[in-house]
Order: sequence, then C-alpha cells, then structure tokens
Amino acid sequence: MTPMLKQYGEWKDKYPDCLLLFRMGDFFELFFDDAVTASEVLDIALTARDQDKAIPMAGVPHHALDSYMGRLIAAGYRVAVCDQITEPDGKTLVDRSVVRVVTPGTYVPQDAEGDGKIAAVALNGEDASIALLTAGTGLLEAGTFPVDEAVSLIFSFRPGELLIPRGLEDELSRRAPDLTAQAAGQSAIVARERGEFSPQFASAWLCKKWGLASLRAMGVEDADPASGAAAAAIRYLEETQFGGADHVHGIRPLMPEGMLILDRTTQLNLELVEGDGASLYSVLNRCKTPMGRRRLSYWITHPIADLDEIGRRQDCIEAMAGDGTLLRNIAESLSGCRDMERALGRLSMKVGNPRDLGAVRDTLNAMPKLLRDIDGSKSGILESIFREVPDVSGLGRLLSDMLEDDLPRALGTGNVIRDGCDTTLDEARDAIRNAEENVRAFEQEERERTGIRVRVGINKVFGYYIEVGRSNSDRVPDDYHRRQTVAGGERFVNERLKEIERRVFHAEHEIGEREEVLYKSLLAAALKESRPCQAASAAIAELDVLRSLAEIARDGSYVRPVMDESRAFLVKGARHPVVEKSLGTLPFTPNDIELDPDATDDKGCIAILTGPNMAGKSTYLRTAALVALLAHMGSFVPAESALIGLMDRIFTRIGARDELSRGRSTFMVEMVETANILRHVSRRSLVILDEIGRGTSTYDGMSIAWAVVEFLDLHVEGRTKALFATHYHELTNMSLPQIVNLSMAVDESRDGIHFLHRVVRGPASRSYGVEVARLAGVPNLVVRRSQELLAEFEKSSPSSDDGLGDLSRKYVQKEIFFDVEREGVIERLAQSDPNQMTPMEALGLVSSLREKSRRILGYK
Ligand code: ATP
Repeated sequence: MTPMLKQYGEWKDKYPDCLLLFRMGDFFELFFDDAVTASEVLDIALTARDQDKAIPMAGVPHHALDSYMGRLIAAGYRVAVCDQITEPDGKTLVDRSVVRVVTPGTYVPQDAEGDGKIAAVALNGEDASIALLTAGTGLLEAGTFPVDEAVSLIFSFRPGELLIPRGLEDELSRRAPDLTAQAAGQSAIVARERGEFSPQFASAWLCKKWGLASLRAMGVEDADPASGAAAAAIRYLEETQFGGADHVHGIRPLMPEGMLILDRTTQLNLELVEGDGASLYSVLNRCKTPMGRRRLSYWITHPIADLDEIGRRQDCIEAMAGDGTLLRNIAESLSGCRDMERALGRLSMKVGNPRDLGAVRDTLNAMPKLLRDIDGSKSGILESIFREVPDVSGLGRLLSDMLEDDLPRALGTGNVIRDGCDTTLDEARDAIRNAEENVRAFEQEERERTGIRVRVGINKVFGYYIEVGRSNSDRVPDDYHRRQTVAGGERFVNERLKEIERRVFHAEHEIGEREEVLYKSLLAAALKESRPCQAASAAIAELDVLRSLAEIARDGSYVRPVMDESRAFLVKGARHPVVEKSLGTLPFTPNDIELDPDATDDKGCIAILTGPNMAGKSTYLRTAALVALLAHMGSFVPAESALIGLMDRIFTRIGARDELSRGRSTFMVEMVETANILRHVSRRSLVILDEIGRGTSTYDGMSIAWAVVEFLDLHVEGRTKALFATHYHELTNMSLPQIVNLSMAVDESRDGIHFLHRVVRGPASRSYGVEVARLAGVPNLVVRRSQELLAEFEKSSPSSDDGLGDLSRKYVQKEIFFDVEREGVIERLAQSDPNQMTPMEALGLVSSLREKSRRILGYK
C-alpha cells in the first residue's frame, strides 16, 4: 500500500456506503469494487493502479464530474467526493478530504432536471408525521396526517430518498405498505437515528437554527411531531452537504384542511403530471421559467379548497386573459428570468458555480421590466403578487457590474469578473496581454543577438521555449539550455525567457486568486439576500403559472367558474382538456355535468352512466374530475359556464391496473381502492367510479357495484356526488331518490353504429359490445358466434331459475367451431384421399371447401 492508497482507504472506511471519488490531479479516480461498479455504470475503461493489476481503477475527468455524477445517482448510488485540499508540491502527499456526499435526494444538477427531494416520515399513533424538503429550492413542508393521506402526499412529492427512524422499517412496511412499495420503486429508504425525529429536541434545534423563540410563527406548534420529521430532513441535508442548508429558511405547514385531497390512485388515474401520453400538465404548461413549471406541477397536485385564494388566482387570470398585449409583455419579461430559486439552492449547498450566480443576476435584472408590465394592469391585482417581495435591485446591479456576461462553469479558468472592477486583477490581466508583446520583442532581440532565425513558442508541458532549426544547432549560444528535441530541431530556454514565463504564470495565478476572492464576496452578498431573492422567485413562479393559465383560458375558450360554499357541481358544455387537445382539429363534443345533492329539482347527485364501449364514458368521467380539479387550482375551466361548490376530495376508481408485483390481483386492487373511497368519502367529495366489479363473476361484480351505489346514496350523511360508469344494465333499475340514469347517445344506422359522444338522460338501450368487437377487428367467426350466443342469452331471463351463471356455463362450454355446417367441411376433408385423386379432382375439392369456408366465415 502506497501512502496515497492508505489515505484512500481511510476515507473509504468513513463512507462505506458510498462510491468514493478520489481526486488525483485532473481526474477523480475510483478503486477496487467502486472502480468495477463505476466502469459498468459509466461505461468507462477499467484499468489497474499497480503492476500486478491487483487494484482495479477507473477515473473520470474532474471537469466532467457533473455529467458522470448524474448517471451514478440515476443508477441509485450514493457518491462521496474526496477532493484535494492542499496544492500539490511534488514532494509531500496532498491532503484530501470528503467535501460532499451526493445522494439521490440531494443531487441538484446544473442543467438536467432534478431538484433533490428528501422526504422524512415518522409514525405517530394512528398518524404519520412527514416532512418534504426540496434541496434545490429550500422549500420545506411538514405536517401530521392519517397514514394513507401522508402516503399520498409523499407519493405526489416523489422524493429521491425517504428517511425513516432506524428500527421502524418493519412497522412502517406493515402500516404503510404502499409507501414502502413505492419507495422500493422510486426512492431509496435511508434509516436515520431515532433521536433525530424527536419533536422536543427538534423544535429546540430548529428554533436555535433560525433564531426564533417558537415555531408557532410559521404555523407549526412547538413540539409538533411534524417538526421532528422536518429536523431530520434538514440534518440529513446538512450532513451530506457539509452544512449547506442555509437556504432552508423555515417550515411551511402542509395543510390538507385548506386543500383538496387527491389520493395516490387518483393522481395516477387522472394522468396529471406524468403518464404514458399527454398529461394535464403538458396541456397547461405555457410557463416561461423553470420556476413556473415547478409551481404549475405543484398546483396541479395540490389543489386548494379556499375560496379567497381561489378567487385571487381567478382575478389574476382574468386580468391577463382579457389583455393580449399584457400577456405578451409579461411572457417576454419572464423569458429573461432564469432559475434563480434553484441557483440559490445550489449556491447554498456549495455546489453552485459562476453560472448559478449569473442566473440570479439575469433574473434580478429582468424584474424591473416585469414590475413595469404589471404596473399597468387594470385592477392592480397582479401587483399584489409582488407585494411581499423586498427590493433586491441593489444585488442585481452589483452582480451586473461585476460579473462577465458569459460565465464559465468553474472558477479558476478566468473570465468571471469584468475588467475595471479591481486594480490588482486589471494589472494581472495587463501583464498577460503584454506577455505576448514581450515574447515577440524577445524573439526579435534573440534573432539579432544570435544571428539565427529562432522562433519563440509555448507548449503546455514545457512552457516557453526557443526553437532552433537543425541546420543551426552548432550556432546555439552558451546561455541556452536544451529542453526538448523535436523533428525540425531543438528547443531551449534561457534565463530571460524564464523570467518572462515566471511573470506570466504569476499573473495567471494572481488572476485565479483574485477572481476567487471577488467571486466569493459576490457569493456572500447573494446568499445574504437569499431570503428576499427566494421571495422574488416565488412571486415570479406564481406570475408565470397564472400567465400560463390565462393564455390557456384565452386560447382554449375556458371560463371562470363560479365557486361557492354550496355542494353543487353544475357545468355547461364541459370538455376534457387533454382529449380535446389530442383531437386536434376534430371537434370535441361538450357535455353537461349536473350533480347537486341539495337540489330540489330532479338533478340528482349520483349518476349511473351506461352506454357502449368506446362511446366516451371514461372521457366524460375524467372530464368531470379534471374540471373540478382545475377549478380548485384557481384556474379557468374548459366549459361554457360552471358553478362549483367547494369539494374536499376527488376520488377515482378507473380502469384496471395490475399490481401483480405487489402481490395483488387486478380485482384485489379494485376492491382496495373501492374500500378506501367508502371509508373516506364525505358529503363534499366527488367520486368517480369507472366500472367496479368487473374482475370477478358477473353476479358478484354486479352485487358489489349495486351495494356501493346504495352506500353512497344512503350511508354518506347528506349524500355525496358520484358518477358511475357501468356495463351492468341492471343498475339502471335502482330506484333511489337521488340517482339519475345517463347514457351515451349512439346513432344506429344500416352500416353500423356511430358514437356521438353525447351524454343524454336515461339508460342505454343495449350495450353494443359485439359491434364494438367487430369495429376492433375481432375475426368474423367470433363476432358471428357472439351474436348467436347473445341472442340466446337475451332470450333467457337472468332471473329464471338456472340463472346467468348456469347459462354461461351451458353455452360457453359448447365448442364454438363445431356447428353443423363446419362439421360438414371437416368431414368432407377427412374422407378424401389425395392419393386416389387426379390433380383436377383435388383442385375441385379445394375450391369447393374454400367456397363453403368463406360462406361460414361470412366473407363476401
Ligand atoms: P370503454 O367502455 O371501452 O372504456 P368508453 O365509453 O369509456 O369506453 P372512452 O374511452 O371515454 O370510451 O372514449 C373513447 C374515445 O372516444 C376517446 O379516446 C376519444 O377519442 C373519443 N371521445 C370520447 N369522448 C369524446 C367527446 N366528448 N368528443 C369527442 N371525442 C370523444
């Protein structure tokens, strides 16, 4: 073991769970197993350190660390960066130290997506206390909720790491199996000391950290268990970033009372932010800044149930939607803003670089025009967005005066600070600029002195040299010392040239040092203003989202919904925002939604929707859910008009998702989701059920579906609002007071059925399933046989003694291929003997069998 490898070993022992990146000159090297792992993940060469090749080694250039880091993190590894902390002098071992630990929850890359998200959870009786910390922006939210709500919140947050108290792993996977299963798929579970989650200890620690007497000012009670989770998350960030958590300025309570809850299933079902196809986010996103895009995604997954705030957002949208020039002006100003929020996060976490400071500068500089733009807005409502933002223009000016326009990714390469800001820096730069002139003058003098056409050049390894051609090698003066032999001649130095070189190197060194000092002073100035800057970022993000929603409202003919305390859900001409967009120029058929548990007329509040497959039932149901969600985001809605009473939750049970990997069958998943709805539904909820009971036998399924509808009608106090699509036509016979039947209109003509996508009152006359099968290209043989069977089934009443179960057994078990005609064809073939036939007879037989087969299969 060389001293260097011993040093490596000592650091690796301190970070056994990390890949250790060990700085050696221009490279970060990995050794032993780490090297093997990295070479596989990064697809880089695996070499060996020693002659015996017993020590595997792999390395990445230090300037490309960021991009390699991203791949290691994406593959789920934790990485410890061990850097050189003393200058190499060629004699003694360079000091090295781990300067940061990068983990899936703390990785905030410069260019790529990813904000570094850490969630912490502690069980607390029947509840779970959670903290959600976005490392990149410093946003920390915490609260205590029933376990399933906490799981939904963590799910929509999508953390890279989930911190749990050590020793509670088993209890957690028992009480919140969804959470641990999700964590297994998307975030790493990190066990932390239990004491870090202790609320008493945490409150005192947080108060001290933020210089507060009590956390109450932030809306969190002292010793609230949520503060324990919050403290655990901050401690983890501080520990991995070696203190870099100053940008986390406080806790924001996660407040489901003021929010509309979307559980995990609903978020998945409605394809809100991500999905295989287009999501609601992709339709609504016209944001101009990354900060706005982040906020939009947050608003979509965190709708609110607060009339004042909804009204304020609507006012802002209205002020912009009606004014095309204003929309354009604001868009233009926003385009000048960069991701200041995340840049400040990175700078606080000590991973930032001059470009991050540049992002702060550009954003602050874009603000004055932005403020002028909204200054002229009609009601003054837009100005209210910036009301709480302190004046940070001084910092903007300072950064503009000092920083170069185009900034490098790293310090040390120069070009960070402008000319004219600092005398020492200017002098050093002049020295470099003069060096070229000095070298040319020196070259000229040497030519005259020696009488040889020497050439003075510079080389990366050997520095400055005097090159003498081969033909003149015997005329080289005595004061020249040989450095290198090259193809055309030899290269020398002398004392004067060394002096010029020393001056250049000294100046370069001075530039590096001086730029670092000045950069650090700018960094300190920016971090000192980090709170006001974060307030500005938040306001810009909000304006960006509201502008985006206003543009969508204007271009997509959305209207402002009337929101109130009632329980009505009355929408005229509702459209599905995503399907509508995907149809392009094809028209989307709008439909009305009429649900009101308190109505005295015949509106009803539970609608049973029947109709053929493909007729638009699911689309209608999702339209209702999305319109409700948009309204609770404060957005306008795709409709002609809407009156929507505040809701507390939207539940959806849509389609079948297999979760076999989690040990649940499709039907089991369906029932677990249904159970969840029935346990939590309230008089203010909206329930969307798309076919329940499908995955089991007909009678079981129908009975469950029936009982569920009865429950919603009879057992939820004051009833709830529900839309229920089903293929069980029997359900249309339910005679309960608030239940209405709706169906999808179908145009039946001689050449088949056409879906009108229009919702009408009354049950569907029949289901058209077989026609849809034909449209889908199911072979005619099967379609025809289905028609026959259907006719038989329809003749027997399901209420007759043998029941539908026996009926299906009786028919389905009959092998469908062998009816008389088909048997005839097969019989004829079996009896024939090709050996006894002439070619003409064989041809005749094939033609006749072909003719019959085509008739049977219904070919024309
Ligand atoms: P299934 O019972 O098989 O699930 P469905 O009745 O739920 O079918 P949808 O999936 O809602 O049918 O709709 C099928 C397709 O019809 C959609 O993908 C969409 O392209 C189109 N569609 C649905 N509703 C409308 C509408 N209101 N206007 C225009 N096109 C629509």
